[in-house]
Amino acid sequence: MLMALQSQMVQCPHCWESFELVLDPAMIEQLDEGETSVSFVEDCFICCHPILFELVSEQDTLHVRVNEEE
Ligand SMILES: [Zn+2]
Repeated sequence: MLMALQSQMVQCPHCWESFELVLDPAMIEQLDEGETSVSFVEDCFICCHPILFELVSEQDTLHVRVNEEE
């Protein structure tokens, strides 16, 4: 069972500003059910460019990876 993180600080790969990403509990549930990673695209709150987020579960810890959306 993963820790149900509500939000995580992330850094935008476009403008390098940090902001708080609120995590969807349904995505965390998918990881709990055995998925190793869940990807989704969300616009940066500051510059509005799309960011590709990847939630990865590693040893019961949730990591958020941030990539530029092509
Ligand atoms: Zn940005």
